[in-house]
Amino acid sequence: MQNDQAAAPGAARDDKIRCDACPVMCYIKPGMTGACDRYANHEGELVRVDPHVVLERTLAQGGNVVPFNRGEWDGTIVQGEETFVTAIGAGTTYPDYKPAPFIVSSEVDGVDMVTVVTEGIFSYCGVKVKIDTDRHLGPEQATVRVEGEAVGHVTTGEYGSQMLSLGGVHHLTGSSKKEGRVTCDALLDLCNGKAVEMTIDDGATVVVQAGKPPIVNGVAEERMRVGCGSATIGMFAKQWHGKVDEVVVVDDHITGVLSEHQAGKLLDIPETGIKMKGRRSTPGRYFQVAEPGTGWGGTNISDPLSILGPFDPKVARPGLRLLMVSTTGEHHAYYELDEALTPVERALPEALSQSVERIKENCEPALCTVLFMGGAGGSLRAGVTENPVRLTLSVKDALTYVTCGGAPVYVWPGGGITFMVDVTRVPENAFGYVPTPALVAPIEFTMRLSDYEALGGHMGEVRPVSSLEPGEARRQVPHRLDNPWPLSPQKAKRSHG
Ligand code: SF4
Repeated sequence: MQNDQAAAPGAARDDKIRCDACPVMCYIKPGMTGACDRYANHEGELVRVDPHVVLERTLAQGGNVVPFNRGEWDGTIVQGEETFVTAIGAGTTYPDYKPAPFIVSSEVDGVDMVTVVTEGIFSYCGVKVKIDTDRHLGPEQATVRVEGEAVGHVTTGEYGSQMLSLGGVHHLTGSSKKEGRVTCDALLDLCNGKAVEMTIDDGATVVVQAGKPPIVNGVAEERMRVGCGSATIGMFAKQWHGKVDEVVVVDDHITGVLSEHQAGKLLDIPETGIKMKGRRSTPGRYFQVAEPGTGWGGTNISDPLSILGPFDPKVARPGLRLLMVSTTGEHHAYYELDEALTPVERALPEALSQSVERIKENCEPALCTVLFMGGAGGSLRAGVTENPVRLTLSVKDALTYVTCGGAPVYVWPGGGITFMVDVTRVPENAFGYVPTPALVAPIEFTMRLSDYEALGGHMGEVRPVSSLEPGEARRQVPHRLDNPWPLSPQKAKRSHG
């Protein structure tokens, strides 16, 4: 189908129909889709283009069903408790006071349950990206750009990973139209598991794809660090003991020096007369030995000797053995002091080679993690209940279990229903957009039917799962075994009785 233009209200010709699933209110010609490609005019009828996804637990039994497949609906509704109706492809109702598109009941373990599903339109949303790399991607607070447009910023790094915060209402709606569109496109691609190239002001170019290694300045990252420089000394000091006189683990954050470190002291490793550049924190731990970069241990150095001063002639001796290594083992060099106490590079002895390999072995594969974060504590609650705050309270009281495409979410404490979900646990292509701009994400609320009634639910709209008509517009997807089964009275705890 082709894409039709959004038109001003009242501009309809007879053969056009009006989509009322979001504020854009497109007029759609026959055979065309609306501005978001989610709805179409099919022979005069407004239809949701993508099939509605239901999870089937029985399909997943006994097999590793990752990723989701594209099986067609075979017309069978398995027992209600084995079928979970997701919001993917379910559609949206607008304005929000209308009941959600599907409010489906089923009996599970003798308990009547209900799941309310809708494709939420999230103007308040973004993604949190964790990039497993030591390499400096850019300074904290630096702007992250896609196609030259600001889409987010670098936030505080975490252990072995750089973190980005992308999207949010200001980039989506608070600046130029182009910035909003590019931000929306980038978020959509990231959430649907596609690769997105981004540049960071005064930093690197990085390609991010959920569940895949990051590509930093054109080079795919292989490993995340085993620990900071100090932690690496602590972990491997015993394995170096007796095989080398001094070890420096180069790290942009905390560079470790074996002979000065507590681990070296406990092993009675003698002083070596080494002189480090940078700021000494505690014994054997140095900050700021170099500038951040994409070289050794996330610094900008390619020559490790550049972070050393001259050895102290009162302590050092010719022949002293020195290993310098990065926090991933990716970079390493071995030196011996000559008569002038100058380090001279030599081939890495076999015994030390094993320790470098051990560092590498202990580094986990570097991946990008993308968490979608959205605020569901607003108007979409009215599609669930006539008294929206009761839904929020029900979620807080753990009477209502929230999922995104059937995947488990983390709901933030405090006000609202602000949740995060790992996009790799959500069925493929679960996310969409509308050109307001905003992201469309599936959200399901599952609870006991009695609790739904108590919170003022739209009881007149509840329909049994067996009433779902088989048809080509619905798709069965095996439940992913590493996701908890969402339809469970234990998940939605009992509120009374
Ligand atoms: S943008 Fe999509 S959901 Fe919104 S009115 Fe147009 S077709 Fe409908």
